[in-house]
Amino acid sequence: MPMKGRFAPSPTGRMHLGNVYSALLSWLSVRSQGGAWVLRIEDLDPQRSRRAFARQVEDDLRWLGLDWDEYYVQSERGEIYAHYLNILKEKGLTYPCYCTRADIMATQAPHESDGRIVYAGTCRPKRMEEAWLNVGAHPSSRQPATRIVVPDEEIGFVDGHYGAQSVNLARHCGDFVVQRADGAWAYQLAVVVDDALMGITEVVRGRDLLLSAPQQIYLYRLLGFEVPVFCHLPLLCNLEGQRLCKRDKSLDLGEIRKAGHSPESVIGKLAFYAGLTRRAEPVSASELVAEFSWQKVPSEDILIGPFFGETEA
Ligand code: GLU
Repeated sequence: MPMKGRFAPSPTGRMHLGNVYSALLSWLSVRSQGGAWVLRIEDLDPQRSRRAFARQVEDDLRWLGLDWDEYYVQSERGEIYAHYLNILKEKGLTYPCYCTRADIMATQAPHESDGRIVYAGTCRPKRMEEAWLNVGAHPSSRQPATRIVVPDEEIGFVDGHYGAQSVNLARHCGDFVVQRADGAWAYQLAVVVDDALMGITEVVRGRDLLLSAPQQIYLYRLLGFEVPVFCHLPLLCNLEGQRLCKRDKSLDLGEIRKAGHSPESVIGKLAFYAGLTRRAEPVSASELVAEFSWQKVPSEDILIGPFFGETEA
């Protein structure tokens, strides 16, 4: 299979330096291996996604010199996700869940304080083959979400950047949502179906998604798809060690472009922070391809100060 990578933003506004950095590293990894790069707009959340945001991402990528070979929009792929969800349903692995967010929070053990929600299996039927029999007759008038049953076993993989990982899904997240109650497709299902059908062989993204990979590997296996290589990236953080936040306007590419900075100056600084160059000098993305190597990228999170000093515009 030819090497293929992707950038899969969920556009909810202008591109942010964190997105630029993920896009740049994924693009460099692909181009340095002579592979193809897919741009996939992950606009599955109807409340947050707008077409105009996707157009801005495209414009920003062109400005940065990060060209793509294939382009997809998730909101146009609902029938495909429905097909694969149905396969999981026919295998007897899914069930309707009527829990509200408040119900789920009420069943959380106090030590699960890192923001992670472990679903307690409240709606999991005793007999999975009867899971969908009485959907219309449920006392709740709510539409159900659809969850998938997870096994109580370790799922391991070797991350291309962070090495061996292993997660027990029953303890890490519990049965997880594959379709939301409002009908929206869940990220975990859509990302697996898309990466598999698009022939993606290398997934590069922030390490905040490192432990989503086992959930995805579980779905890859159930659907009979080949698992890609995962390469997670250290996060970009401010000097206090907090992950760069979208609300910080000075890190928004719209503001950076308005202030007159060049694409080469943005790429030069990010490449320097990512360990790819010795000095934060302006450079184009294509000039970095020949020298790109995963070995140069650190595994500790990357602390960055003010991105552009007052006098540098
Ligand atoms: N759409 C996801 C995000 O913007 C990234 C998905 C992925 O790379 O797997 O956070």
